[in-house]
Amino acid sequence: MQITAAVVRSQGADFTIEQLELDELRHNEVRVRLVATGICHTDAIVRDGVYPTPLPAVLGHEGAGIVEAIGDSVTSVAPGDHVVLAAAYCGHCKRCRRGEMAYCENLFAADFGGRRLDGSTALSKDGEAISSHFFGQSSFATYANVVEESVVKVNPDVPLEHLGPLGCGINTGAGTVLNELKPEIGSSLAVFGAGAVGSAAIMAAKVADCSIVVAIDIHDSRLELARELGATHVINSLTEDVAARLREITGDAGIDYVVDTTARPELLRQAAEAIGVRGTIALVGAAKPGTEVAFEIGASLVKGWTFKTVVQGSSVPQVFIPQLIQLWQEGRFPFEKLVQNYELSQINEGFADSKSGVTVKPVIVF
Ligand code: NAD
Repeated sequence: MQITAAVVRSQGADFTIEQLELDELRHNEVRVRLVATGICHTDAIVRDGVYPTPLPAVLGHEGAGIVEAIGDSVTSVAPGDHVVLAAAYCGHCKRCRRGEMAYCENLFAADFGGRRLDGSTALSKDGEAISSHFFGQSSFATYANVVEESVVKVNPDVPLEHLGPLGCGINTGAGTVLNELKPEIGSSLAVFGAGAVGSAAIMAAKVADCSIVVAIDIHDSRLELARELGATHVINSLTEDVAARLREITGDAGIDYVVDTTARPELLRQAAEAIGVRGTIALVGAAKPGTEVAFEIGASLVKGWTFKTVVQGSSVPQVFIPQLIQLWQEGRFPFEKLVQNYELSQINEGFADSKSGVTVKPVIVF
């Protein structure tokens, strides 16, 4: 069938709106009519060639839509169901079998390969192959053939145009706190980078009853929003010494948990300086392959601290996304405050507004 999609044709180029051919549904796929899709920083770094998805490609991995048709072996959804689309996983490696699909051993092929796992692409234009199946979905398009693993059935009473960002950024920030770090009631948590992922981490820290929640960013507008979402303290890293302020805020105890969404080595060093005894730093931000960080390991040995990387909030999307929707319905997770809507034709504006700090979470509504 013919679809309309935003295509990135070369590294760093703007997206162009084009008519493409979407192929036949495979037995393990679901055809989804997209209602909305979030724009995530990960789309930007793939557009810019930091991760090697073959171009031209249709990106987009925070889709929300309605099931139009299902392949023969699909059992989890039926036509008419409302769905949120999350990251893909193979479903059969050791990690997937353990419920750790965020760490799927075939994650790179399933999410960034630009092809189905059988090597085919669902998208073409006049015979030219266009990469599809980005995160199992390629949701910057009016329709997508999505692998069943990416599909999360949601309550039809909740407006679908709100739900796209739950598929990646919001799931990642909230899951890093609630699924991976699991902070004790009354503990302290700092979020480096109060963008979409960081804001979700801040809301989750409030849900988890952390008593100190610190937001760190370079945009005062984002720090103001962070306060509204639950931050008890804010630090502008352009004008303040982050490690010194964190020590001051925690009465010299050091911070119990850090969620870093900036992937900036100089900030991670400051996080390590400010981490408390038995503290944990969770790196979520994506840096260019080859990026290194140097830490002090002499005096800090006795702190028994941990540095770890966290993918997709360590969540099982089909379990965690409905939980986030419930928190939102209870008014405890107001992620709609981050969102600004755009039309598909305004996709480049959405990316630019995210980069400049004007919009925390751009969402394309079809
Ligand atoms: P974003 O651009 O909305 O947020 C990043 C924030 O960091 C911005 O608010 C920015 O102002 C802030 N920042 C930049 N430099 C800073 C500095 N020197 N000091 C303080 N703050 C600074 O991006 P996002 O969508 O929230 O994504 C964040 C990162 O997480 C990206 O790298 C993205 O690729 C990655 N990501 C990882 C996963 C995962 O599974 N690990 C999932 C989703 C996104």
